[in-house]
Amino acid sequence: MKFGGTSVADLERIRRVARLVNAEVQAGHQVAVVVSAMAGKTNELVAWTDGSGAAAQGLAASDDEYDVVVASGEQVSAGLLAMTLRNMGTPARSWMGWQIPIIADDSHGRARIDEIQPEKLGAAMDAGEVAVIAGFQGVTRDGRIATLGRGGSDTSAVAIAAALGCGCDIYTDVDGVYTTDPRIESKARKLAKISYEEMLEMASLGAKVLQTRSVELAMAYGVPVRVLSSFVEPGEAPGQGTIVCDEEEIVEKRIVSGVAYSRDEAKISLFGLPDHPGVSSTIFGALADANVNVDMIVQSKARTADTANMEFTVGKRDAQRAVDIVRSVQPSVGFEDVQVNDDVAKVSVIGVGMRSHTGVAKSMFQALADKGVNIQVISTSEIKISVLIDAAYTELAVRALHAAYGLDQL
Ligand code: ADP
Ligand code: ASP
Ligand code: MG
Repeated sequence: MKFGGTSVADLERIRRVARLVNAEVQAGHQVAVVVSAMAGKTNELVAWTDGSGAAAQGLAASDDEYDVVVASGEQVSAGLLAMTLRNMGTPARSWMGWQIPIIADDSHGRARIDEIQPEKLGAAMDAGEVAVIAGFQGVTRDGRIATLGRGGSDTSAVAIAAALGCGCDIYTDVDGVYTTDPRIESKARKLAKISYEEMLEMASLGAKVLQTRSVELAMAYGVPVRVLSSFVEPGEAPGQGTIVCDEEEIVEKRIVSGVAYSRDEAKISLFGLPDHPGVSSTIFGALADANVNVDMIVQSKARTADTANMEFTVGKRDAQRAVDIVRSVQPSVGFEDVQVNDDVAKVSVIGVGMRSHTGVAKSMFQALADKGVNIQVISTSEIKISVLIDAAYTELAVRALHAAYGLDQL
């Protein structure tokens, strides 16, 4: 069982979580619970590190001490939940990442789990104790605390489930995965089932209900995942939620399953690039060396002979760094100009049915045109189409696409 920040936001909600955990114990199950920091805590901790003067001294935000600070929020909620369970008469203890251990690599701030050694945890559970695990954190091979990137408690939970050989129930503030973010479109519908592949695309394209890495892990290890609401009253069951599973297990196939959006985008435009081999390799090589993640890329020939224009997107936080890097290769590459626009959003439609149906892109472009939304960049994969638009039209575009594919009538 995994509980997110809003689910453990105060002691009353922690008691509610303890009741849900107890219900599983009463049903005869052994339980490992992963918790996030109380709502807002991680943001507060991140702000402390920003304000510590580290940036002024040129220290990267992903410094190892950043992880020491931001991982502390989960320690608090794990301890509080274990205490609450004990007070209800259920044996429980808290586990920090290093105590299990959850071994992570040393890319601080966005570490990946290398390995979990579940023997001690399993022995405690066999002895009848609920294991309350601090999410979001692991320990590097040389003993330092590492965090798994924002939203990383989902990944802790799926990794623990894989290590223990069980399923993973993600309890959150919505009662499942919806056709789009229910905060933006009140007509969004809950999906009874969604395939790993579609969920992976939804997550990586901005639906933050599950961290992308957690879906990757679930898919790789075949962990059955359910997304459920933790907001249930005493005695009430949490409902069916959404099951994330293999595509074959889904009988009712849809062409489009969901619409996702991300405002964490910046577009970089390069004008007057020489049109010869090696140019892209130099530019994207320099960005890769600096660990800048590039998403959409388009290049087109300019009207004038022998030059081309190129646009690509990066995360908002990386925009300035990306521009600096591109400028640093300007003398060797020899392009005319570079511009950046971070007032953009990416809106995507996702569905495995696109593999076998035509006309999905046409419907998307038509729906956006009808609302007067201009498309700046397009990218596609087998099961998704993404467009980059002016950020001001994000909600309008999401709602228009949701309606265009009939998702409000599922
Ligand atoms: P937690 O703190 O439990 O990890 P998050 O805030 O990380 O919760 O994720 C849950 C939120 O994800 C929801 O409140 C909802 O606004 C958002 N969300 C975005 N897209 C979707 C979607 N397609 N289905 C459900 N929730 C979504
Ligand atoms: N508390 C961490 C965050 O806010 C991890 C999580 O909630 O999953 O990113
Ligand atoms: Mg989350």
